[in-house]
Amino acid sequence: MDYLRTRHFRRSFATGAVFILLALLLWGLWQARAVTRSERGHDVQQMQAQAALLARAAQLPLRNDNRELLQQLADIVSIQTGLRVTLIGADGRVRYDSMEDQEEMDNHLMRPEVQQSILRGAGDVERYSNTLDRTIVYHAVPVRDAGEFVGVVRIGRAREDLDALLQLRYREILRNSLIAAVLLLAVAFVVAARHAAALQALIQASEAMARGEAERRVPRLHHPDYEPLGAAINQMARSMATEQYSRAGDRKRLAAIFAGLVEGVIDVDPQQQVLHLNDAAAHLLDLPREQALGKPLWELLRHQGLVSALDEALRERAVVKAQLRLGGPPGGTLVELHVAPLASDQGEPLGAILVLHDVTGIRQLERVRTDFVANASHELKTPITAIRGLAETAVDDGNIDITTLRRFMGRIHEQSLRLSQLVADLMTLSRLEGEQGSENFCDLDLGELAMLAVNSARMAAEAKGLELVHAQAGERLRVSGDREQLSQLLDNLLDNAIKYTPEGGRVELRLASEGGEALLEVEDNGIGIAPQDQERIFERFYRVDKVRSRSLGGSGLGLSIVRNVASRHGGAVSVRSQPGHGSLFRVRLPLTSAG
Ligand code: ADP
Repeated sequence: MDYLRTRHFRRSFATGAVFILLALLLWGLWQARAVTRSERGHDVQQMQAQAALLARAAQLPLRNDNRELLQQLADIVSIQTGLRVTLIGADGRVRYDSMEDQEEMDNHLMRPEVQQSILRGAGDVERYSNTLDRTIVYHAVPVRDAGEFVGVVRIGRAREDLDALLQLRYREILRNSLIAAVLLLAVAFVVAARHAAALQALIQASEAMARGEAERRVPRLHHPDYEPLGAAINQMARSMATEQYSRAGDRKRLAAIFAGLVEGVIDVDPQQQVLHLNDAAAHLLDLPREQALGKPLWELLRHQGLVSALDEALRERAVVKAQLRLGGPPGGTLVELHVAPLASDQGEPLGAILVLHDVTGIRQLERVRTDFVANASHELKTPITAIRGLAETAVDDGNIDITTLRRFMGRIHEQSLRLSQLVADLMTLSRLEGEQGSENFCDLDLGELAMLAVNSARMAAEAKGLELVHAQAGERLRVSGDREQLSQLLDNLLDNAIKYTPEGGRVELRLASEGGEALLEVEDNGIGIAPQDQERIFERFYRVDKVRSRSLGGSGLGLSIVRNVASRHGGAVSVRSQPGHGSLFRVRLPLTSAG
């Protein structure tokens, strides 16, 4: 019911009420006028009729001065109608008066109504009567008998009587007007209240919608004028909600895409203030995300390259690309920057999007690849050059003796063996790096593989006078793996240990299980490896002493094959060494089961 307090209700009801009251006032006044007229007219008519009647009846009694008859006639009329009847003789003396004693009355010949009636045939005068001490309305007619004037009949009515009657009628009109006013005002109240209620419901619902209450709807209005409006507003709200929902979805999707991007993305406005910054960008530029929002990029970053690339893109309105080296890990992060200016359909600048792509890894990989190709070519070139030189000398020298030729052939054989070893190692490595998955994996007994590797290394160890010890594990070590690859891992480790241990030394292969893993250790008391080299010996082609390695037939690929095999089997390799005292290589591989 609070709509009854609204301005709208007050105004429309007040307007209706003013109209109703004004109309009723006019109607009342008009009615009063009409009633006054008709009552007066009616009164005059009655007096005329009575006067005419009396004028005929009083002809003879007036002529004969028959007072008794005159009195009877006058009384009949007077009693019946309440009118004052005066019968006047031709000489002006009053013969009879229904209200006064005629004997005490003056001569009436000169009364205005009497004079008028004699002169014009009828006299109508309203005047104060001294006799009655009241205002009286008179109507007088002359009485003639056979053309002879015999007197005057005068009818009078007290003004007060007529006014009292009119007062009564006026009061009636007023009462009717008041009843009509009450009824009409009630109707106006109901109409205005219904309008106000519907309007109030419309306003409240629309305001709630505008505040963002998406679920709010206009209720049923029960008003034929407002109902279609309410339905239209509801329809509009529904379509807006649908649109809002899909827009929110778009925003969420976009935010998710931003967040999920590996590339750093920064969105700036034309003043270079950060509007959006994803995690990758925050990480690359080492910026606290929440603090960066709303601040200009040039204030947040000291990196000149980035700031000037953004300046240029905004100034030239063109895409700017640049390569930057940011701080961070040793050597820094290499970043490819892509700045794209944004503009509205009308060409107004909207800012720019900066995309930062970390290319450190890619560049490193590229460098490793080119290094690898250079290294491999170099490694291949050495034996090929040697073979070629030996063969050319043998061919060119016609006098070469058979002993020298044999020596040459022996060297050529040696180099070709090295070459094929190198190629075999390269192929193994490329297979290891290229192949993914564990298709050829089967259940293997690591103890058995170790036994085979030790046996095949025994000859080389004995040739160098080394003690080769094999310490078996107390249990069977079962691993899931590739037999050939794991054999190669064992061969390479034993081979190195034998190669880099001087004569009379000792090489030991130990197997054990530790915390669900197989622990494989190859230890020697050979030349050892300097700490700075320990990190790098697992790299391809890395050799601590090139000449020594080469002379021992090494390719520099053995340990990188070991590391690759270990990692493909879910394990890892590590080294502990002291120059001059020996080295310990330790490989951990996950066991399939404790048995
Ligand atoms: P290579 O074919 O030269 O042996 P590897 O990759 O197997 O190549 O080993 C890399 C380098 O690590 C070797 O050149 C050698 O200098 C060093 N190295 C490997 N194993 C041992 C070891 N047991 N003792 C001392 N040095 C070793």
